[in-house]
This record gives sequence, structure tokens and C-alpha cells, in this order.
Amino acid sequence: MGGSSPCASCKLLRRRCTKDCIFAPYFSSHDPHKFAIVHKVFGASNVSKMLQELPIHQRADAVSSLVYEANARVRDPVYGCVGAISYLQNQVSQLQMQLAVAQAEILCIQMQQEPTLPTDPDDQKSLFLHSNLNNLPQYLNFASSSNVIQDPLKRIISLDMS
Ligand SMILES: [Zn+2]
Repeated sequence: MGGSSPCASCKLLRRRCTKDCIFAPYFSSHDPHKFAIVHKVFGASNVSKMLQELPIHQRADAVSSLVYEANARVRDPVYGCVGAISYLQNQVSQLQMQLAVAQAEILCIQMQQEPTLPTDPDDQKSLFLHSNLNNLPQYLNFASSSNVIQDPLKRIISLDMS
């Protein structure tokens, strides 16, 4: 931007770099390749038009996008940066799928372990009660023995009579 040395754009286009040159803030003469590749892919006048349509605070981001896209377009003339984007999107969806599978496996393992290794103390308590009910001695299992006298008074009477 220093008065005497033209920016990379004006140097390449062989024109005088004015103080209101739209390229000067983004294409320093120290990095001539940056403008050369953008010019090759998009054309200097198109880049100039794009920058003029943008508010100044967005121009630097636009330039770095154009440089990125131009480099990608040279590497991959068919897809440009879309190739890289779809590759990365594909990777993201594959990883999300792997994550979902891993989370499902964790859930399965947790459900298998729950009856023997509860982590919550409240669960442990209810589990204790539950397992005690299930492991009642056979003689206390009223439902299965029909000849048990359930009324204690009746039971005493029947004992007295025998
Ligand atoms: Zn210039």
C-alpha cells in the first residue's frame, strides 16, 4: 500500500496503483501468487465487481474465500472446493453414524448390567427389595400352596383341634 510500490494486482495488470485501488488492501506485492491465481480463475474485473458490491468489513473474508476457491479449482478443475466440502460432509455423516452405533451399544451394555450392577443407590435399594421378593423361601409363597391357612386365628384354632 506504500505509495511507490504497486499492489500485486496492479503489478500483474501493468497499471498504476491509485490510493483508492480496491485490490491494494488484500493483495500485497509480497504475495503475487495470491492475486495471480484469483485472476486466472475468476478474472480481475469480476473480482473487482464482487469486492465493490460488498461492505468493506466483508471484503477480506471474501478475498480469502476467493483465494481458497481458486486454489481448489486449480487442483480439482471439475468440483473445486465443492469436492473438499462434500468429502468432509460425507466424513461427518459417517462419523455421526458411528457415534450413534456406539451410543446404542453403550445403552445395550448398560441395560445388560443394570440387574447386577446398579449405579444409583435408590435403584440398589429397590433392586434389593425386588430380588428379596423373588427369592422368598418356598413355604412363604402363599399363591402356590392352596392349603395354607392365611388367617392367623383360623390357624390357631385348627392347630388346637388337631
Ligand atoms: Zn493496486
